[in-house]
Amino acid sequence: MDEAVGQILYSREVIEERVKELAAQVMSVYREKPLTVAVVLRGGFIFAADLVRHLGQQCDIVFVRASSYGDGRRPKGAATIELPADVTWKGRHVLVVEDIIDTGRSMKALVAAIAKKGAASVRVCAFLDKPARREVEIDVEFTGFAIEGSPFVVGYGLDYAGRHRNLPFIGTLKPAAKRKPAPKKTARKR
Ligand code: 5GP
Ligand code: MG
Repeated sequence: MDEAVGQILYSREVIEERVKELAAQVMSVYREKPLTVAVVLRGGFIFAADLVRHLGQQCDIVFVRASSYGDGRRPKGAATIELPADVTWKGRHVLVVEDIIDTGRSMKALVAAIAKKGAASVRVCAFLDKPARREVEIDVEFTGFAIEGSPFVVGYGLDYAGRHRNLPFIGTLKPAAKRKPAPKKTARKR
């Protein structure tokens, strides 16, 4: 196990079960409507890969980005959204698949941007949610698990400083791990 992880919150088995249930819920809503799954990079990639393989219907899969800034460099709540230029949104029912909703700022901006492109509907599916941290109102139609309080979690797509995304479970990060700098890359000698 990764030594940076404190407590395992959701095991691989628990995650697998929940993803299957979510896929069934999603299918019952769309029922063969023209569905586009918009995967939020990078954190959403593992959850989305599992989810779409349990969707028993056709769907397009596209990749988007959203980030919000809370560091004082920009007005609070300003978000940068990147949508691919070659995607047709008009008339599509869009399911945005994300790893975790925190303040909700990036997802709110992302949903608005996709709606503006003429999507027939936009719904959000987030594997994790931290409702206690919400700063703006958004509808999250499908949620894997609501986390109590606001622990920082890693694994199953979620990173800390680029690491731990590939853990097959979701766990808390030890406080000590947050302070440790990333290992330096050593140049390989020929
Ligand atoms: P917000 O909802 O505040 O706009 O931002 C949500 C994003 O913040 C998530 O997509 C994720 O990238 C990051 N985030 C929020 N909480 C956590 C967490 O507990 N762990 C990790 N790894 N990322 C988080
Ligand atoms: Mg994210």
